[in-house]
Amino acid sequence: MLKAFDAIGETLAAHKDHLTELDSAIGDADHGINMSRGFGKVREKLASGTYGDLGAVFKDVGMTLMSSVGGASGPLYGTLFMRMSMKLAGRQEADVSSLAEALEEGLRGIVALGKAQLQDKTMVDALTPAVEAMKKASDDGADLCVALESAVAAAQSGMEATIPLVARKGRASYLGERSAGHQDPGATSTFLILSTLLGSLK
Ligand code: ADP
Ligand code: MG
Ligand code: MG
Repeated sequence: MLKAFDAIGETLAAHKDHLTELDSAIGDADHGINMSRGFGKVREKLASGTYGDLGAVFKDVGMTLMSSVGGASGPLYGTLFMRMSMKLAGRQEADVSSLAEALEEGLRGIVALGKAQLQDKTMVDALTPAVEAMKKASDDGADLCVALESAVAAAQSGMEATIPLVARKGRASYLGERSAGHQDPGATSTFLILSTLLGSLK
């Protein structure tokens, strides 16, 4: 899993300009900067620590994002990983059911904090279908790669479906109708994180 966070850091750094461009259309043009800085700090932190289980890794990821990323996405992604850590305590490796439960718990944390509903044009629009796909895969007894593949496909559809939406949460909501026609930056980073996690487990 430490390798996975390294890969996620690399992906977000590689997509820094892309995410910032998306945020310049409907926000304040810092999402790429926020995410690549935050996950840069995560990589440094994980490289210097020792961890007994996945719960400890995810907790440190969440706390590092909380403290190093300003704006809306820092506390939201921080909460995602801290809440995930609760379901991964005592585990050395994630399996489908523990990852499905962890992602569901993380989503619950994001919704409790940010109060976004589906179709408010936020990261919730990518994460919710991904969680549903993971849970279904878990019920079907799928293996981890197959489960994550379906979650990534669901996140991608959710991300693309944010394009026509009018934002009702976050900075983009200040634009009202003018936020329509642009893909949400946070839904995009959620898709990138999940697809990189899949790639690193293959
Ligand atoms: P900021 O808007 O403070 O500059 P970022 O640009 O880093 O922060 O992140 C913006 C992203 O955060 C949005 O694209 C959206 O996906 C997400 N977001 C904003 N507000 C909320 C919220 N209340 N709930 C869920 N996600 C949100
Ligand atoms: Mg921003
Ligand atoms: Mg900002």
